[in-house]
Amino acid sequence: MIQASIFPGKYVQGAGALSRLGKESAKFGKKAFAICDPYVFESVIPGYQDEIRKEIDIVFEKFNGECSDKEINRVTELVKAEGSSVVIAVGGGKTIDTAKAVAHALSLPVIIAPTIASTDAPCSALSVIYTDEGAVDRYLFLPSNPNVVLVDTSVIAKAPVRFLVSGMGDALSTWLEAKSCQTGYANNFAGEKGSMTAYALAELCYETLLEFGVAAKVSNETGVVTPAFEKVVEANTLLSGLGFESGGIASCHAVHNGLTVLEPTHKYYHGEKVSIGVVTSVFLTDKPADFIDEVYDFCESVGLPTTLAQVGLEGVSDEDLMKVAVRACAEGETIYNELVPITPEAVFSAIKAADAYGRARKSGEV
Ligand SMILES: [Zn+2]
Repeated sequence: MIQASIFPGKYVQGAGALSRLGKESAKFGKKAFAICDPYVFESVIPGYQDEIRKEIDIVFEKFNGECSDKEINRVTELVKAEGSSVVIAVGGGKTIDTAKAVAHALSLPVIIAPTIASTDAPCSALSVIYTDEGAVDRYLFLPSNPNVVLVDTSVIAKAPVRFLVSGMGDALSTWLEAKSCQTGYANNFAGEKGSMTAYALAELCYETLLEFGVAAKVSNETGVVTPAFEKVVEANTLLSGLGFESGGIASCHAVHNGLTVLEPTHKYYHGEKVSIGVVTSVFLTDKPADFIDEVYDFCESVGLPTTLAQVGLEGVSDEDLMKVAVRACAEGETIYNELVPITPEAVFSAIKAADAYGRARKSGEV
C-alpha cells in the first residue's frame, strides 16, 4: 500500500512574523510581488514595509475582492511586467487562493501570509476559483503546497473573533473525517492513503481545540497574543491544513456542501457550516453519547453553531432539508468515506437529529 502526505515547505508563526517577509522572500530572488486585502494594504502593511524593504524590492498591490479568472489574469500580467521572482499573499482566503493561482500560472514560488485564522487554506495545494459573480467555478489542484506560510499572530489577534471561531469549526471536522478515512483506507487529497503522521496531526488538532479553544477565543476578544491563542491559530491553520489534505475528508464537508444549496446559509462562514456538518456527522456515524456531548460542549463553549437556526435556516422545510441531504450525497462526494450506509434519508435524519439535540440542549431540556 502506498501512503503519501503533502506539506508546505516552511511554516513560520508568531507575533510580528510579518517582519520576516522580506528575509523569506529574498531567498527566492531580488523582486517580490505581494497582493493584499484592502484593509491589510491600508492598515497592516504600513507598519511593516520599511522592515520588509530592507531585504527585498517589493510591490504591494490591492486585491480586487474576487478569486476569479479575471483577477488572476490581471495580477499575473502585473507580476510578469514587474519581473518578480516570488508571489506573496497577505490577507484572507480569496487573496491567498489568487496568489497561489498566479504563482502556478507563472511557475513561481509563493509565500502565504494569512491575516485571519478562519480556514485551513493557507497551507494547501488547492485554489478555489470563483466566477465574477461570486459562485464557485472550479477547484484548481496545484502541483505543490506553498513554499512558505508566514502567520503573524499579532495581526490575527486584532481580527474579528468570528474568524477564529469559524476556523475552529473547520478544524473540528479534521480529526473526525481523517479518522473515517484512516479506518476505511480512503484516499486523501494526494490521491493516496494517508500516513500515520497525517492522522496523528489531525488528532492533535482536535485535542488542541478542546483544551485551548475557549482561552484562545478570550485572547482574541481582548486583542492579545497568548500561548493558547498561538496553539489554536496553529491548529486552525497548520494542523487542520495538513490533517484534511493528507488525512482526507468525509461527511462534515459533504454536509457543508449540501447546506450551500440553500441561499440563507451563504452569509455564514465556511467553518460555521462545517460545524453543522460535524454535529450531523456524529449522529450519522453513530458515535457514543459521551463523544456527542463532548462535541456539543465544545461548540457551545466557543459559540459554534449546533442548530440550523444559527446558519440562517430557522423554520426550514423538510423539503429544503432533503435538498441539502441529496446534495451531500452527490456522486463522488466525500461522504462515502464514512463507514456507515449512506443515503439521503440517513443524512436528512442525522441533520434533523443534530438540530433537535442542539435546540434541546440550549433550552435546558437535556
Ligand atoms: Zn474546510
